[in-house]
Amino acid sequence: MATPLTADRFVAALRAEGVTVVEHPGWRTHNRNGHGAWGPVTGVIIHHTVSAGTANTVEMCFNGYEGLPGPLCHGVIAKDGSVHLVANGRANHAGGGDPSVLQAVITETYGERPPGPREHQGSSGAVDGNSRFYGFECVNLGDGTDPWPPAQLDAIERVSAALCRAHGWGARSVIGHKEWSDWKDDPRGFAMPTMRDRVRKRLGAAPAKNPPAKPAAPRLQPFPGTSFFRAETSSPVITAMGRRLVAEGCSAYTVGPSPRWGEADRLSYAKWQHKLGFRGSDADGIPGAASWNALKVPYTK
Ligand SMILES: [Zn+2]
Repeated sequence: MATPLTADRFVAALRAEGVTVVEHPGWRTHNRNGHGAWGPVTGVIIHHTVSAGTANTVEMCFNGYEGLPGPLCHGVIAKDGSVHLVANGRANHAGGGDPSVLQAVITETYGERPPGPREHQGSSGAVDGNSRFYGFECVNLGDGTDPWPPAQLDAIERVSAALCRAHGWGARSVIGHKEWSDWKDDPRGFAMPTMRDRVRKRLGAAPAKNPPAKPAAPRLQPFPGTSFFRAETSSPVITAMGRRLVAEGCSAYTVGPSPRWGEADRLSYAKWQHKLGFRGSDADGIPGAASWNALKVPYTK
């Protein structure tokens, strides 16, 4: 249990976790605080919207609809992974739910899933979830076939981890609406235990401000030009080339490749040209650009 984050700390926590945050106008003072408690907070509930399109979904979650006044969550997670903040304070997202689930989340003592809920909004044993949970509505039709793009799942993982990290919670503090209320089936289309695993892994690492970069492609030695390959040349490029020829099974070396260009290099390179399908003067052992690029000699200088 914890005191809810201020708007500034909320935004800072999300951004520190690499979330693309969009602040909807008015969100910092938009809430349902006059209609019940806000806090102490104990976790995060993930929802799907049963809607399509970012702009209209954000409007709906800010304003609500007839019979359910907004805000309907704290943030809308779009299919592109952007997170649109619409509320700061109590919001109409969780409704009534099961006290045994609340207890399991507070103590973070459950296995793959919290105990199955037996309460819902208006049922006799239900407890108020709107005072205890941050809520995120994810844009999805909720029909089980509307896809969940990787960027959207990544954003769910990041916002959940951001709030867990800010409050010192573990991944078991993140549940789906259907794990809170027996009337609900959201989110549908991905598994909450899998999402909790992702959050757990993320919490095990330092906050990553940016998505992990792809490993850089190994840098290759550009073709140095035909005139480079003559007896006067002594260069680590020749050694690197020779090592690649050996690796490709094109060795005519009696001793290992050396920096100085020689007949063994030429004969070895001719084998490589043959292997590539060159014949005659195209396979004379003097490197050309096409065969050189195909050899992928590592950059050495
Ligand atoms: Zn929901």
